[in-house]
Amino acid sequence: MTERWDAVVVGAGLGGLVAARELARAGLRVLVLDGRDAPGGAVRSHDVAGLRLDAGAESFATRGGAVAALVDELGMTDDLCTPAPRGSWVHLVSGDGPLPATGLLGIPTDPGAADVRRTLGLVGSWRARFDGVLPARVGADATTLGALVRARMGARVLDRLVRPLVGGVHAADPDQLAVDVVAPGLRAALAQHGTLGRAVGALRAAAPAGSAVQGLAGGVWRLVDALVADVQAHGGEVRVRSAVTGLAADEVGAAATAQGGFVVRTAHDEVRTDRVLLATAAAVPLLAELTGADPSAMRTDEGTPVTLVTLVLDGVTALDSAPRGTGVLVAPDATDVTAKALTHATAKWEWLAAAAGPGRHVLRLSFGRAEGDSATLPAGDDLVRLALSDAATLLGTPLPADRLVGHDVVRWTQALPRPSAAHRDAVAAVRDAVERVPGLALAGAWVAGNGLASVVPQARAAAVELLGAPSPRG
Ligand SMILES: Cc1cc2nc3c(=O)[nH]c(=O)nc-3n(C[C@H](O)[C@H](O)[C@H](O)COP(=O)(O)OP(=O)(O)OC[C@H]3O[C@@H](n4cnc5c(N)ncnc54)[C@H](O)[C@@H]3O)c2cc1C
Repeated sequence: MTERWDAVVVGAGLGGLVAARELARAGLRVLVLDGRDAPGGAVRSHDVAGLRLDAGAESFATRGGAVAALVDELGMTDDLCTPAPRGSWVHLVSGDGPLPATGLLGIPTDPGAADVRRTLGLVGSWRARFDGVLPARVGADATTLGALVRARMGARVLDRLVRPLVGGVHAADPDQLAVDVVAPGLRAALAQHGTLGRAVGALRAAAPAGSAVQGLAGGVWRLVDALVADVQAHGGEVRVRSAVTGLAADEVGAAATAQGGFVVRTAHDEVRTDRVLLATAAAVPLLAELTGADPSAMRTDEGTPVTLVTLVLDGVTALDSAPRGTGVLVAPDATDVTAKALTHATAKWEWLAAAAGPGRHVLRLSFGRAEGDSATLPAGDDLVRLALSDAATLLGTPLPADRLVGHDVVRWTQALPRPSAAHRDAVAAVRDAVERVPGLALAGAWVAGNGLASVVPQARAAAVELLGAPSPRG
C-alpha cells in the first residue's frame, strides 16, 4: 500500500518547515521530504572546536517582525539578541573604512556623515551629496540597485559601500539585482521623499526600533529543531535522505475519487497526497510533466556557490579588542585577499563570546563572489591557510597557525538565488504553471527573496493559500 498524507512539503529548509508547521497546526497530516541527512537547509549547524555554530544563516532582518513573531510562538523570545553595536568595516584598495552605521544595503542615509566621508573620501562624499539636490525623477526608472545608486549617489557609494555589502549578503553584483526585489519600497520612498538618503531613512524608520538585525542565543539553527518538534507534535513527519525525484497526477486516485491528487516519488518509494508544497527551486523541473509548462521558461537562478571557512583561535590578544568591529566586507577590486567577507562572530554575539570563553575567538570567512570563484579555491589545509592569512590581513593583526584550535569548511550551492529580473520572470512562469493545478503551492527564498525575514512570512502565506484551495479529493 502506498502511504497517503494530507500534504507533502518538498524541502525541509526554513521555508518548508514553516509552511509544514502551519499545515500541521491546521490539522493536516503533513510529510516533509528532504534529500539531505539533516533538515534546515541553509539554517543548519555544525560543531567546531566544541562549539555548536550556525553553518549558514546566523541572523535575520527585523523588517516586518515576522521572524520575531515566529520565535515568540516557538517559546524562544527570551533568547532573541542583537549584535554588539561595534559597527563593521569595508576593506578597500584605498584602505579600510567604516560602513555607515545607518543605511540600507550600504546606501547611507546621510552621505555627509563622518563615517561615510571617511570611507568615500572627499570626492566620493561630495558626489554622494548631489542626492540632496537632484530632482526625484533621477534614478526613478532604474531597474537595478546598481543603476539607482549610481544615478543618485555616484560610483563611489556603489563601489565602496553597496557592492561589498551586496556581494557579502547576496553573493551578487548590484548591477544584477532588481531593486524592487532586493529593496522593496525603496523606489516608492524615493518618489515620496525626493532623495535616496531620505528614502533609506524612511524605510529604516518604518522598521522596528533598534537593530535592523537580530539573532538567537545559541544560534539561529535552533529554529529548525523547534519547527521540526512542532510539526511532529502535530502529527507530521520530517523525513531526511528522501530527495523527491518525481511528481505526477494521481491517476489511480483520480479513477477512484473522480478528483485527483498527486503521487510524489523518492528514490525509495512513493506517497500519495492531496496537496504538495514545493519549498525548493530544485523541485521545479518536476513540474514540467505535471503542468505541461515549458521547462526553459522556468529556469530559476541557482545563485553563486559560496564557501564558508570557520576558524576558532585561542589566545590572540589583539582580537580581544575587536579591531574591525563585528566584521569586514571586501570591495571586489581589493586583490590582497581572496575572501569577500569576514564575520568576527565572538565580537558580534555576546552569547557566543560567553560560550567560547575568555581569549577564544570565532571568525567566519566567506568566499565566492562570482560564478566559478569557489571552484578555483584551494582544497583542504591550503584553504584553511588561505582563510587564516586573509583573516590576518582583514583584521590587521598576525594570526599564528599554532593558535588555531578548530576549523570547518562548508560549501553552499544553490542556496542564494540572485534576485535578478531574469529570476523574477522564471518565478512568474512557475507561478503561472502552478496556478493551473489546484493543490500545488510554492515557498522558499527562491520565491520570497533571500533571508529569513522574507522566507518566513511567504511560507506562512503559501500554507494559508494551500489550506484555502479546494481539496482535489473534495
Ligand atoms: C551561507 C549563507 C548565509 C546566510 N546568512 C543569512 C543570514 O545571516 N540571515 C538571513 O536572514 N538569511 C541568511 N541566508 C539566507 C537564508 O538562509 C535563506 O534565504 C533561507 O534559509 C532559505 O530557506 P529555504 O527554505 O528557501 O531554502 P533552503 O534552506 O535552501 O532549503 C531547501 C531544502 O530543500 C532540500 N531539497 C533540495 N532538493 C530537494 C529534493 N529534490 N527533494 C527534497 N528536498 C530537496 C534541500 O536539501 C534543502 O534542505 C544565508 C544563506 C547562506 C547560504
